Formats: sequence, C-alpha cells, structure tokens
Amino acid sequence: MMKRRIRKKRKLKKHINSFLDIWGSAMDIPFIKPIFITILTICILLIFIPYILTKISPNTDEPEKELIPQAEFQLKEVPETINIYRTESKKVETVNFENYVKGVISGEMPSDFHIEALKAQAVAARTYSLARVLKAQSGSNPEAHPDAPLCDSTHCQVYKNESELEALKGKDWMNDGWKKICRAADETKGQLLYYNGELVEQALFHSSSGGKTENSEDVFASAVPYLVSVDSPYEDEATHQEEQHSFSIAEISAAVKNKYPNISFGTITADTIKIINRSNGNRVEKMQIGNGILKGREVREALNLPSANFTINISEDTVTFTSNGSGHGVGMSQYGADGMAKNGYNYKDILSHYYSGTQVY
Ligand SMILES: [Zn+2]
Repeated sequence: MMKRRIRKKRKLKKHINSFLDIWGSAMDIPFIKPIFITILTICILLIFIPYILTKISPNTDEPEKELIPQAEFQLKEVPETINIYRTESKKVETVNFENYVKGVISGEMPSDFHIEALKAQAVAARTYSLARVLKAQSGSNPEAHPDAPLCDSTHCQVYKNESELEALKGKDWMNDGWKKICRAADETKGQLLYYNGELVEQALFHSSSGGKTENSEDVFASAVPYLVSVDSPYEDEATHQEEQHSFSIAEISAAVKNKYPNISFGTITADTIKIINRSNGNRVEKMQIGNGILKGREVREALNLPSANFTINISEDTVTFTSNGSGHGVGMSQYGADGMAKNGYNYKDILSHYYSGTQVY
C-alpha cells in the first residue's frame, strides 16, 4: 500500500512537470487509460476542429489587412539621399531624403493645414518617392528625366529646397510654416505605407474630391486595390466648390480638336454635347462631343476645368460647366484630410481611409 502511495505521489509530480507524461503515466494504469484517452480526444476535437474550420472557411467580415502574409512582410528602408532632376537648372541634385520630403510637403500642401493632415502628406510623399526610386532601380528613370527617378515639378511632385522656400515665402513663414512642416516629417520619419505586405506604389493625392474620391481605373488605365472610391465628407473648406466655367460651342470645338487631333469630331453643335455616364465617384466618365467620345478627364484637360466632377447646362450657344473639387480625384483628398484631422482623426486614420486597406509602418 505504502509503495503504491509513493509511486502515485511521484507520478503526480511528473504530471505537473510535463503534460506529455500524463499520457505515458495513464498508459501504466489500466482503468485511467480509457478516461485519459477520452478526455484528450475531446480536448483535441474542441481545440483543433474550430481552428481548422476558421482556416478553411472564408470569413467575409475579416478586413483584407488580416490576410497579410506576415512571414513575407519586409519593411523598406528609406535611403539617406535621393537624386532629383531640377527643372529650372536642368541638373540632377542629390538631396537628403527626409529634407526632400519636407520640400515636397511645402510644395504640395498649405502649411496652415492641420498637423495630422501634414503628417499624412509626409507619409504619402515619402512612400510615393521611395516607390519611384525602387522602380527606377529595377528598370529605368522616366523618359522626361532619364538621369533621375523624380523631378521637382507637377510631373512628379512639386519640390523646393529651404533657400528657395525662404526666397519665395519669406522669413516669417520659415519660422512658423516651415517649422510645422519639419515637425510633420520628423514625427513620421521613415514611415511608409504598405498594402498586403508590399510598399504602396501609387500614393496618389489631389486637392479636393467634391465629396467622393475616384476608382483608379475610372481615371487612369488600371485598377489599384487601395485606390478605390470612398466618401470624403469633410471638404467644407475646400476651394473650387460649385465653380462655374462657361464656353461658347466654338471655343469647345477649338479646344477639343486642338487637344485631340486624332479624333474626328465633325461639326460640333449644342445637340451633340452630352454626358454619357458617370463613375462611382460621380465624375463624368464618358462624354459625347460632336461625333467624338471623350473621357471626363480628357474634357477636363482640354477645357482646363478643375475637376471632371461636373454638370453641364447648355443655353443657346453657351455651355456652362459647374464643377466640384480640384484634381484627378484619386487617392487622398488633401482638403478631405485636413477636414478629417480637424474632426479628430490622426494621420493613420486619414491614410487608411483614403488608401483602402493600407497600413503605416
Ligand atoms: Zn518628373
């Protein structure tokens, strides 16, 4: 009896020390064996079957970011310097990368915007720039500037260095506006935008959307999963709201024929100017002008309208375009970002709103 007790005590110790021993010990005692086997089998079934079911059944509620293959997620590093083609001097300048980001924020967003909007702009500009550098490394620089991955104009991103900014905006601005922009870049230093474990290649932005941003494929050639139409509800302070531009039929005719010489428009009359359809973001997708069909973006470019989010009103010989928003409408709305920031959202909220399914690291 004593011996048995001691053996049992020792076994109890073993049970505590190692879960695996439970199985081995149970095997030694005939009547415990079936109990252990039953309990363990039930545990395995309870734990593993629901786990396996969640793995094989699609969960539509789960956001896309949960599907990131973490093992393959490699964060990118921003290089120390970047080469910029300066359009005025026609020379390539090597600039400190983070200073370049500061110069781009200054060129692309008013410094009186909310700090969180400026921080969102910093991450977007940094991401866009690095993506261009990496693209150039694996292929070649753009045709427009074959010696550098980026230029300092609207062709890429508007950039001005510190002394150019001081000459342009004055000393007072350097003391407040510039300092605020530096803070936005410094507080997000090195941070980049990722989608599905990959660096975002097209962190596009525009001034204001007019209430809704645009699907990439409705403006540019291809669909991009994070450039999808979203509401942009905080654009009250945006410029270019309900902006009207009037043209005579003759002016429209001259403008489109000059811009698109390969399209045979024929004789353009008031009856032949029509909006055919609209995109998700409420922009004009296709428009008939004479015998020609133009995209909303092409009409916008030919007539220099602020946005393709327009309605038309034709009276006799005059066509009046009433447009909302400014820019192509894809990606982050800058006025929308400022509005979100003023309503309590931070830069990460702003970025994940305008670039669907993306994350900042
Ligand atoms: Zn360029």
